[in-house]
Amino acid sequence: MGTMTNQTLPWQAETWSQVMQMRERFPHAVLLHGPEGIGKTRFAEQLAQALLCESPLPDGHACGHCLACGWFAQYAHPDYRRVRPESLEDASAVDDAGAETAKAAKAEKGASREIRIEQIRSLANFINVSTHRSGRRVVLLYPAEALNAIAANALLKTLEEPPPATVFLMVSHNIDRLLPTIVSRCRKVPLTMPGAAQALAWLKEQGVGDGESWLAEQGGAPLSALTQSQAGSREAVETLLAHLAKPAAEAALKTADQLQKSPPAEVTAWLQRWLYDVFSVKFSGKIRYYPKHRREIDALAMRADPIKLLAVLKSMNERRAIADHPLSPKLFIEDMLLDYSTVFA
Ligand SMILES: [Zn+2]
Repeated sequence: MGTMTNQTLPWQAETWSQVMQMRERFPHAVLLHGPEGIGKTRFAEQLAQALLCESPLPDGHACGHCLACGWFAQYAHPDYRRVRPESLEDASAVDDAGAETAKAAKAEKGASREIRIEQIRSLANFINVSTHRSGRRVVLLYPAEALNAIAANALLKTLEEPPPATVFLMVSHNIDRLLPTIVSRCRKVPLTMPGAAQALAWLKEQGVGDGESWLAEQGGAPLSALTQSQAGSREAVETLLAHLAKPAAEAALKTADQLQKSPPAEVTAWLQRWLYDVFSVKFSGKIRYYPKHRREIDALAMRADPIKLLAVLKSMNERRAIADHPLSPKLFIEDMLLDYSTVFA
């Protein structure tokens, strides 16, 4: 990330200048909300850095060179805290160290996907000591819907009596799942999905080939599309889609064999989206994720047994929950493909 994160995403430039107009009298709590995969967290991190920077640029962005920016880049700024589920901590630890084994070890333990009360409590010390540098401290919390009920109530108490010189930046993909009392204490800043042309142009700049397919599969969300294009190979997706287009129980083993290097969670997600498309075409004629495969999906929708289709969609949700660390990826994928073929038997 590094240098790239200092650039505002083109579809967020206007929001950035609006937020910067509040700079002098910045709200105690800001809630950035909008669809997943469009760069809200990145925006929030840029904002946090900008608020802590000691010589910000005219457009409000952090300079990237001062002492505060140096600390920020290493996540060592004494006036900055990040609160997020343990499961996300794992991901970034792996990014930083490149240590796959650390990820595997943590996954075994089942890292929490919630923001827990201890995490909110531990903010108290941070908030109650005086600031070290600019006189302002920043707490970045995401995704806000990961707050469990107890943690949400503890946070609410803090927001009700805002500590001096403290800014809470919260990010939510799903504002409806937050405590209304928390939402009402925040300045809400909506971030929206960019238009298809803008998203596509941006992906191209990032060096993504076949941006259209990745975007469609991610419901138009450019950052998700970028992540996917880097994580899974196009070849693996095409292998799976070719199998799904011609479901055959006897081919499941071979396809699973070809896909065993792909993260099982990704394969599950691809298959889930494909099934959603079959379902959606069958009942409403609409296709969302794989428009390039319209013909195959139309044919499958005709053949699909509606009750089996619903049952397999449901079982895919259950698989998704355990897909992070199946005992054998190959068996996991094969089993899933066999299940899929029952819809068209
Ligand atoms: Zn700076």
